Amino acid sequence: MLHPMLVRKLEALRALRGRRLSISCAYRCAKFNSSVGADLRSPHRLGIAADIKVAPRECESFAKDAASCGFARILPRADKSYVHLEIR
Ligand SMILES: [Zn+2]
Repeated sequence: MLHPMLVRKLEALRALRGRRLSISCAYRCAKFNSSVGADLRSPHRLGIAADIKVAPRECESFAKDAASCGFARILPRADKSYVHLEIR
């Protein structure tokens, strides 16, 4: 289940960007989490992280907007066309 604070921040980011967010991954069950080789303590397991599909050229501006919405950890992955967002 997603943390309500994560949902609120994603909604604020959606409003700021003025368009829908394409979420490629948010909450992961234990089985899926291990299938992608992620750590047992992944923030995705805790429902406090989401990966958003972002075109490589937009990753930088997206990350800045995410920071202004209060995300604690922002990992732009322009090489894989997504940005990892996390609350704490
Ligand atoms: Zn992630």
